[in-house]
Amino acid sequence: MTLRLHNTLTRRVEPFVPLQSGRVSLYTCGPTVYNYAHIGNFRTFLFEDLLRRWLEASGYDVLHIMNLTDVDDRTIAAARDKGVPLRAHVDPFARAFEEDRDWLRIKPATEQPRATEYIGSMIELIQGLLDRGVAYHGEDGSVYFAIARFPAYGRLSQLDRRELRAGASERVSADEYSKEDARDFVLWKAARPEDEAVGAAWDAPFGRGRPGWHIECSAMALELIRRRLGTDVLDIHAGGVDLIFPHHEDEIAQSCAFTGREDFARVWLHGEFLKIGGTKMSKRYGNVTTARDLREDGVDPGAVRLLMFQVHYRKQLDLTDEALASAREGSRRLGEFQNRLLAATGSADGASLLEAAERLDREVAEALDDDLNAPRAVAAMFTFASAGNAALDSGEAAGPRALASWRRAEDVLAITSAVQSVKVGTSVDAQMGAGELQESPPTGADEATHRTWAIGWAVRRKEAKAARNFAEADRIRGLLKAAGWEVRDNRDGSIEVVRSRP
Ligand SMILES: [Zn+2]
Repeated sequence: MTLRLHNTLTRRVEPFVPLQSGRVSLYTCGPTVYNYAHIGNFRTFLFEDLLRRWLEASGYDVLHIMNLTDVDDRTIAAARDKGVPLRAHVDPFARAFEEDRDWLRIKPATEQPRATEYIGSMIELIQGLLDRGVAYHGEDGSVYFAIARFPAYGRLSQLDRRELRAGASERVSADEYSKEDARDFVLWKAARPEDEAVGAAWDAPFGRGRPGWHIECSAMALELIRRRLGTDVLDIHAGGVDLIFPHHEDEIAQSCAFTGREDFARVWLHGEFLKIGGTKMSKRYGNVTTARDLREDGVDPGAVRLLMFQVHYRKQLDLTDEALASAREGSRRLGEFQNRLLAATGSADGASLLEAAERLDREVAEALDDDLNAPRAVAAMFTFASAGNAALDSGEAAGPRALASWRRAEDVLAITSAVQSVKVGTSVDAQMGAGELQESPPTGADEATHRTWAIGWAVRRKEAKAARNFAEADRIRGLLKAAGWEVRDNRDGSIEVVRSRP
């Protein structure tokens, strides 16, 4: 069986075949860093992380591009409200996004372009569209895309003319009279004094201004796949369903009109909404939940991932207190089993564990190949944990195969809570960090030896912090993280090392 994905372009589940054998280009629309990303945004990023991880586990070399929108109406408005330059407003939110992303175990994209660093590519693209006659200067000094000159417009969203007009009015430049057609969208907005005030205006042959939101993604995606892969068609483009229209429709129009290709991306994937207690998450309803809210409540990132993956990405997910509580409990049970499995690992697998491991491999692969059916893959991990617990109860040994199968599944889903922690007291066991310590974790050693190694480094990190050598402290945190350990600093001055990955 091979990977099959639901393509929004055709509204069908189709076998996935990349343009270049063994390589996949994946573009995912990133966050607008005017504020903290909320948990609904992260549902989309988590579904994309699952897609990326499963492609990699299937043997593909993935070029994953995720942009940061650091200039648009919202970022400019927020900077102006605060009275600071654009950069000063967005930088802390860009850092916060990366922290939240890392906390949720989302793999950083291979390329993370920021819109303001690709203004040159955007200008080139817009100039190309003007040269090809599909863009024009409006009376207000802005540059617009002429939808009437791009016959394929509407192919992705499959909306009729009337619906297109109604929907487009929300996100196009406000001055309707400067455009030839009410549906036309802005590519370049003429600079206003309020843009200049926050440093959000650039010179271009077609006038000083700033890019429209849609052009940003087209320019960054095209620039990077041309440079990295020598192509101008993406294999996969993904995002939330709310981006289908107009954002992705407009990305297709700009990109295809520029490249002359039929497709901008061959497969379009869209993740459904997350609701809170049945209501759309919105500032208006005061129910916006961020990743840091969950983190402050002591929720393990494995539990958040489990919660998201228990519902298929094309179905709406309702986040309720009960659903979260049950995900926390489930993720903790998986963590306990994982620790048990690690502690029991010997040289050979018992018969029933071997059989359960084979079944786990098969079921996870079948589920994820079937349009990323994460709920079924998750169920397979629970089934394995139950069978594994029963086998260990009956005195069976867990061997390399059981552990390898578990690791393969957990590497893709990462839904297990870190439950077993080792606390190192305030009167630190100094000798644990003293003496010879290998940079890489001990190979083939038992779990107790691994733990001793991790504690040793955690102690060294504490010493580095005490000496205000933060670079070294960060380096050690990274070293432990790479080996599957998380180090936590407690308020009482003690430190803990927690298993985050088998
Ligand atoms: Zn985009």
